[in-house]
Amino acid sequence: MKKQGPYRVILTEKEIPDHYLNIQGFMKEKPDPYLNPGALKPVALEELFPVFAEELCRQEMNVTDTYIEIPEEVRDYYKMYRPSPLIRAYNLEKALGTPARIYYKYEGQNTSGSHKLNSAIAQVYYSKKQGVKQLSTETGAGQWGTALAMACAYYDMPLTVFMVKISAEQKPYRKAIMETYGAKVISSPSQTTQVGRAILADDPDCTGSLGTAISEAIELTAGKPDACYVLGSVLNQVLLHQSIIGQELKLQMEAYDEYPDLVVGCAGGGSSLGGLMSEYMKDKLTGKAKPYFIAVEPASCPSFTRGRYAYDFCDTGKVTPLAKMYTLGSGFMPSAIHAGGLRYHGMSPILSKLYHDGFIDEARGVNQTAVFEAAMQFAKHEAILPAPESSHAIRVAMDEALKCKKTGEAKTIVFALTGHGNFDMQAYMSYMDGSMTDYIPTDEELEAGFATLPKVPEL
Ligand SMILES: *Cc1c(COP(=O)(O)O)cnc(C)c1O
Repeated sequence: MKKQGPYRVILTEKEIPDHYLNIQGFMKEKPDPYLNPGALKPVALEELFPVFAEELCRQEMNVTDTYIEIPEEVRDYYKMYRPSPLIRAYNLEKALGTPARIYYKYEGQNTSGSHKLNSAIAQVYYSKKQGVKQLSTETGAGQWGTALAMACAYYDMPLTVFMVKISAEQKPYRKAIMETYGAKVISSPSQTTQVGRAILADDPDCTGSLGTAISEAIELTAGKPDACYVLGSVLNQVLLHQSIIGQELKLQMEAYDEYPDLVVGCAGGGSSLGGLMSEYMKDKLTGKAKPYFIAVEPASCPSFTRGRYAYDFCDTGKVTPLAKMYTLGSGFMPSAIHAGGLRYHGMSPILSKLYHDGFIDEARGVNQTAVFEAAMQFAKHEAILPAPESSHAIRVAMDEALKCKKTGEAKTIVFALTGHGNFDMQAYMSYMDGSMTDYIPTDEELEAGFATLPKVPEL
């Protein structure tokens, strides 16, 4: 019998990366530039300065540097909860009877319960350094809002969070945590902003979406010279910060003497998947290896699998620059599934380009009942109750492991367990009492979303 390796590889704080890995620096073909929605011309660096802290704008537009140094202060904060563990799912493998080896990188070991803190602390650090006096943001499921509230508390930075209304109702404790850390939390759409009032006038029962909350958060800080807006996913800078996940992962996989055949991650805005893949995507872009990448999304919000690769607004209120990405149209209102962190109409421009060019091999849409079936099985065998978002990746990792059982292939599968589901009991309850439903948008519904895409002539 083959000797069994360790259950977990944890690393030491010395092994926390000292640089972020910039995937864009390794891409021969770069993502298309952001466009100014009025002039339809590429956005200049300075045009972003009123929105984000300047250093973050530079990171956003940096397509040349392969590595960017992590400030010592930010690294020190990481030391309180990182490196995150890599765990071999021996028990799940046994339960499935698969010859596949399944590993997961667990990002839920901090109060925010997800990977979002990795970027939150960096964004607040750069904002503080520049003298910014207040921040605004949106949150879907609440993980990002919590992470940012933690980072803002650490740096004494006032914060307003627009929380997607349906999530605020489903997760009152999330709101309470953010408030505990001193953030002001407003359900979106709200009466606080013009965009919110317009959306409510149109549809008083609107349950909100990330796109809507983004518009409100931007409006709140727009035009205030010492206020900034921050975003928890989608942006290039967020993928950059999340690259610490992938850099740690590579070291941990080496400790197991393993290289993945298959890398699986859920994709909301794409930041955790971008981070998870970083080192292995670098290998693929530089021709060193060819791991197979799968992005998993909800069948109810299928940006990759049924969306268009087009220029679109990043928000519902159409106030952001245009980004070239896989999108369902900024007017698409996703159904109220429980994986709030995956209810977004678009996708990271970097991941979109990588998918378009075939470097991300596959995207898969899965139904939430199948996702929770996988989540329940995982929880039973692996001692962590997974977040609904993360469970999308679990579903596909399990499906692939079951395929291996049929073919006898012993593939090495890695996925990101992006967070825990301790605040998602409403969702688990609805799965257990049988009231959870699946929703797949019709082609007509998708067409209505595509009709909201801006008309942009070929550049
Ligand atoms: C926000 C979130 C996601 C999705 O966001 P990405 O930017 O695509 O990573 C996934 N899992 C959890 C637990 C989250 O909080």
